[in-house]
Amino acid sequence: MSGAKKPRTDKKGFMERLNAGEMVIGDGGYVFALEKRGYVKAGPWTPEATVEYPDAVRQISKEFLRAGADIIQAFTFYASDDKLENRANESLNKHTGAMINQRACDIASEVAAIGNGNGPGLFAGGVCQTPGYLSGGTKESVQAIFRKQIEVFVKNKVDFIIAEYFEHVEEAEWAVEELKKTGIPVACSLCIGPEGDMHGVSAADCAVKMAKAGADVVGVNCHFDPWMSLEAVALMKAGLEKAGIKVPLMIQPLGFATPDCGKQGFIDLPEFPFGLEPRILTRWECHRYAREAYDMGIRYIGGCCGFEAYHIRAVCEELNKERGFFPEGTEKHALWGDGLRQHTKPWVRARARRDYWENLKPSSGRPDCASMSKPDAWGVTRGDANLVQHVSATDDAELKKLYQHEKA
Ligand SMILES: [Zn+2]
Repeated sequence: MSGAKKPRTDKKGFMERLNAGEMVIGDGGYVFALEKRGYVKAGPWTPEATVEYPDAVRQISKEFLRAGADIIQAFTFYASDDKLENRANESLNKHTGAMINQRACDIASEVAAIGNGNGPGLFAGGVCQTPGYLSGGTKESVQAIFRKQIEVFVKNKVDFIIAEYFEHVEEAEWAVEELKKTGIPVACSLCIGPEGDMHGVSAADCAVKMAKAGADVVGVNCHFDPWMSLEAVALMKAGLEKAGIKVPLMIQPLGFATPDCGKQGFIDLPEFPFGLEPRILTRWECHRYAREAYDMGIRYIGGCCGFEAYHIRAVCEELNKERGFFPEGTEKHALWGDGLRQHTKPWVRARARRDYWENLKPSSGRPDCASMSKPDAWGVTRGDANLVQHVSATDDAELKKLYQHEKA
């Protein structure tokens, strides 16, 4: 299936698109997808795969593009030097941080240039929260960490930079301030929900602070499901309007349902990170998410951890009329289950209709399982001794203390 509109050949810039009221679709999550495939280690979650397994990273990017994404994010999440050596992560012993960031840019720029069937894509570098900040680092020391990554992004002429996954708006402001010195557009998103940041700043105030620091686009990513993330962005939108600030909004939620989590998001769920599978969103839930995000006026719509290519494809299929084209991946996906007309079994053929899938309430498939959990909610954040990071790994004595804390 192909779109009605002719593909464009120009490469329209990131802000040019948003300022013209166009929508941009982001890609999905890399760390979780690559961890499941054996290329990222859960715990440190660092992206040395850009150097060690570039084909694996490239493949995921290509899948997001085929699913209709306009943006390919360089896999630079947690690629700050202090994170690459935190808690006995050996990444920095094997590669330099600059090399990991450079290879990420190589892959993202190469894939984005292929385009999504509607013209060339955009590629972005990204920075996120640092162990340095959590441990109480000063503004100057944290900004110095960001500068090392930024140097690589400038050299590679990224289309824009994403400052994402910040639990504390203060650190995001420091990042934006540093990033803006490059003259490159900056999109900034916090990993917060409706309850605001970890220091108690409301979602509305967070949005105003990000915009005042100079962010060209503001919103949320990760930690919460689409519904809680939409709620957070709605609060941000109201805060910005009240402050008289006009800035495009972005959203890149989890691909997991998290209605039971607290302020810290899915990190607090007992299933994090190895038992989240029963919470994976269906593609049909992504249709609903995409429509609600668009109707709210959000124009940068994507996904974070747990968001796979088929989730992004669902977002693009839902918004095909507004965008003027279907993703290339729709070639193998008749809308709303229509491909099931070709199934051999009659009861499955009977599901080749929109109302069946739109109204489905999927079962978890596990007897004796509660639908909700009891989140951990330790409630510790920057300023707590337990969050001071170390270059050495957690030893047995420290681990025992943590385990006892958990049982208490
Ligand atoms: Zn994420």
